Amino acid sequence: MFHLRSPDSIFKLVLGISIGVVVFIIIQMSYLPSNDQRELDFDGTLEQRLIHLESDISQNRHVAGQLHKAVKELMTAAPPPDQHQQADQLDVAANQHQQAAPQRAAAEWQQERQQQRRQPGSMAGFCEFGQQSPKTTDVQMLDLYKEMPFDNPDGGAWKQGWELTYDTSQWSAAKKLRVFVVPHSHNDPGWIKTFEQYYAGQTRNIFNSMVAMLERFPRMKFIWAEISYLDLWWSEISPEVKAKVKRLVSRGQLELVTAGWVMPDEANTHYWAVLEQLVTGHEWLRLNLNATVSNGWSIDPFGLSPTLAYVLRRSGLDHMVIQRAHYAVKRRLARHKQLEFWWRQTWDSGDSTDMFCHVMPFYSYDAPHSCGPDPKVCCQFDFARLPGGKYNCPWRVAPRPINDGNVAERAATLLDQYRKKAQLYNSRVVMVPLGDDFRYDSAHEWEAQYVNYQRLFDHMNGQTDWHVEAQFGTLADYFAALEADARKEAAAGLAAFPRLSGDFFTYADKNDEYWSGYYTSRPFHKSMDRVLISQLRAAELLYSLALAAVGPSPSVELSSHTSQLLADLVLARRALSLFQHHDGITGTAKDRVVIDYGNKLLKALERCQRVLQQSAQALLLPEPAAWQPDISAVYWEPAERRRGPERLAERRTLSLADGERAVLVYNDLAHRRVEAVSLHVSSAHVEVTDPRGRVLKSQCAPVFDGVAALVDGVHKLTFVATLAPLSLAVFTVRQVAPMENGRHELALVTLVHVPKGQQVSPGRAAPYAVEYSPPAPVTFGSTDLTLELGPDGLMTSLTRVGYDRTALSVDFVTYGAQRGPDPSGAYLFMPDGAARSYHRSAWPYRVERGPVAAELAVQLPDLTHTVRLVRAEGADDASWVEIQNRADMSRRRNVELAMRLHSSISSGDRFVTDLNGFQTIERRTFEKLPTQANFYPVPGMMYIEDERARLTLTLAQPLGGASLGPGQMEVMLDRRLMQDDNRGLGQGVTDSRVTLSTFRLVLEHPNQQEAPQKPLPSLLAHAAHRSQLHPVHALLHSRSCAAVPGKLNVAHLLPEGFQATATQTSLTGVHLGRSVALAAPLALDPMELYAFRLKRL
Ligand SMILES: [Zn+2]
Repeated sequence: MFHLRSPDSIFKLVLGISIGVVVFIIIQMSYLPSNDQRELDFDGTLEQRLIHLESDISQNRHVAGQLHKAVKELMTAAPPPDQHQQADQLDVAANQHQQAAPQRAAAEWQQERQQQRRQPGSMAGFCEFGQQSPKTTDVQMLDLYKEMPFDNPDGGAWKQGWELTYDTSQWSAAKKLRVFVVPHSHNDPGWIKTFEQYYAGQTRNIFNSMVAMLERFPRMKFIWAEISYLDLWWSEISPEVKAKVKRLVSRGQLELVTAGWVMPDEANTHYWAVLEQLVTGHEWLRLNLNATVSNGWSIDPFGLSPTLAYVLRRSGLDHMVIQRAHYAVKRRLARHKQLEFWWRQTWDSGDSTDMFCHVMPFYSYDAPHSCGPDPKVCCQFDFARLPGGKYNCPWRVAPRPINDGNVAERAATLLDQYRKKAQLYNSRVVMVPLGDDFRYDSAHEWEAQYVNYQRLFDHMNGQTDWHVEAQFGTLADYFAALEADARKEAAAGLAAFPRLSGDFFTYADKNDEYWSGYYTSRPFHKSMDRVLISQLRAAELLYSLALAAVGPSPSVELSSHTSQLLADLVLARRALSLFQHHDGITGTAKDRVVIDYGNKLLKALERCQRVLQQSAQALLLPEPAAWQPDISAVYWEPAERRRGPERLAERRTLSLADGERAVLVYNDLAHRRVEAVSLHVSSAHVEVTDPRGRVLKSQCAPVFDGVAALVDGVHKLTFVATLAPLSLAVFTVRQVAPMENGRHELALVTLVHVPKGQQVSPGRAAPYAVEYSPPAPVTFGSTDLTLELGPDGLMTSLTRVGYDRTALSVDFVTYGAQRGPDPSGAYLFMPDGAARSYHRSAWPYRVERGPVAAELAVQLPDLTHTVRLVRAEGADDASWVEIQNRADMSRRRNVELAMRLHSSISSGDRFVTDLNGFQTIERRTFEKLPTQANFYPVPGMMYIEDERARLTLTLAQPLGGASLGPGQMEVMLDRRLMQDDNRGLGQGVTDSRVTLSTFRLVLEHPNQQEAPQKPLPSLLAHAAHRSQLHPVHALLHSRSCAAVPGKLNVAHLLPEGFQATATQTSLTGVHLGRSVALAAPLALDPMELYAFRLKRL
């Protein structure tokens, strides 16, 4: 539903996001060559281009450092010159050293560093980024893990802590204990029920009673996180009720916290989607409530990532609250009063990323685990559990209504818990969340909580010798009081609190029960998430560019057309945003809820495809402004389609019977790509020409279902496309007579271990020569790599040309499920021991060799494993090996399937994984921890290395991974578990689907004198992963190609149609920053994300 946004503001948002996206790409790829260098290096492979660039960067680092120093001296020695003069001087200097961006005035830089929101930064810092050591912090999570014993002593009433005591002299009339009871209701947008079912059954009632009761009780407060629900409710309430809500927000009685579309998962999500859902929520808030957000609330995600802290910080938030950290980590932080800290990015060599974070100390965010250490006591103060209601206390002591007779005793009992909780923090302010899942859904419940608590507060506050001031509060109230309290102690205030870096994975809530199963649960939908990210990003970019191309004053028809496409984009954004929920992409919802998410994702994909093909059509027209659009027309069909939400994508067959066909290839990355493109066509003998009419080298191979079942009449065409940055290019494919095209070859196919009865006759295989042969070693070579495979069809080594051979083998292993009260399920991974290898056997396999690409597909039980090497000279993808596993676990019971790579790299216990596709983090495999604790989220890549080699595995979909021995990397592929793991879901994970997982293997031999100070992906691994996440989009022309013009580089369109200046904003566009000229080059800091708001002319 997009009627909630005015077309004008939606338009700004789209442009804002799209340009933001462009800027993200530029940052992400800013290590890659500039345009000029690209042309110079035209003939090199991607890897060679990157090696040149690395050496240039290394040479330039020194020069840039000197430049930086000189500028600094200049700035301190003389009064700052005016900005233009400064920029001019630096432009000259920068050009001399082939640097793209100017240094900003140092004085201005100093001034802006003091501001909260980050501005584009310094070039010298950019070059030195990898070598700068991160600033030390008081707590470093990996160091903490090395130290901690992970024993699990019984703490008594606070089972995972210790017996808390206190001295009442710490409080006085001047220094009271301040208590903020924070009413909250955790609303999952889909889990046991679907998003819409929860809304209809519970959430609507929560909102309705919220308005009535907050109005009736002005001292009552409430916080709310999930904007997706607020949006549903908003569409059905009256203007009067909306006005009441605005009033409640403006007077601080109702606080919106984080205000994302959902409360996103932090393990499997990609930062682009995290940001998309946050922008969607914040934009809603700005338009409907004209409100901003200051405090984050992430109480249910199963482990916490610093990427989220970073995104919230750069979106203008000041504080955040988290809950699900490992119980032993909580105990350790509590012991040292470090549950409140400044969370700093591991890569930050300064302090600008610091985000103030509060960790809840106990087992859960529910009321029994929030007022203090004893859940049996705290439960008695959850008045929704009064006898006769729908909830009760499992500790078997029920709450009692507060009356004159018991208030003294009840207030003293509760205060004792508050005082104990206060001992864990470094202040005299206590936050006491009061709520649970889907709470406050009736007036009765609101009243029970309000009336009884207010009686307790009034009594406590009236006892002058208790030195306490208790009240309802929001997060804003709490953090303001905390800041004031900290100022009383030290002038620095909150700045004096400790610094922490690292993350909170892998989460355990008790004993050895580690939540590493959900890193892999429902991998089919995890993969679909990344496909939608790619499609949505591509569609948003192309749509924005098409809008600019149609000009500032389009016809009525054309503007109604573009607003329909915009509605498609809004629908897709909301579907993607919803799926980022911590029971969505995590795979921890009921089967029917998973189906509902799948339907929404598929619909979003279809809408993105419509936007893509319609926008492409507009951009390819000579006069887009004169276009007579038709929303239902299919000008271009995607080369792949999905026949249903539970099905993998299938390639369409391009029929060449009626003459030549146009194929549109869209590169939505901001750098040049040379990549193999594969299509299904109806003929084995073809000719492919590029937009300039040059005939390209190509190959055709027969298409098989599985390893050996030939599909008649379809051929897999592969050619290498050279694509300019942000470009649409039209290639032409036509059928030719056999041998007519000298640049086209047929692949040679060898089949091994295929039983006689399944072999294809030579006549049916024609024109291909298919041979059946005994097992033998296989070698594939490209200009960069040699890949050796054994007679069983599995790889044995990988060699980068010019270097020593690296032994590298692949193994498929399975884990069984432990028997016990808390077995493996959707959340938990509880293996029954070490993994078991698939026993070696004579599996059938197929080898295809051609001049453009070579591949081997082997059929293992329940799994087709394919390795592929692009062989064409100059292709980017000749620098890595692609692996695809197509798994079907539907016949297995309590089995988890993993792919394990063994190499000769001496990596010891060290490996590196990424966080949210945004940053990388060092890991250690600890013997003191069980197997399941040594699994980490691998949302995008992992690597191992020694002084001679680095091996990176990149992933097209998020999965769980580990390095359980030196030289090993392992990723889970799928899991089928027959039972519930007692975390509330009430079912196992048995809805297995045929699932495809895709990886790339990058082998490198770093040639560096000094090791980088930070674990960073190499440029090559980064490029491999980006092109994997954002594959080129191939679209097949649906009619004759006569009307299709040659080629359009949409990058040229970017600055046109917009005002000359843009406004920098916080990431979600809520807080406005300074104005920047589009014509001037922008200097951007490494790792940082930026957003700008553009206006149309
Ligand atoms: Zn939840």
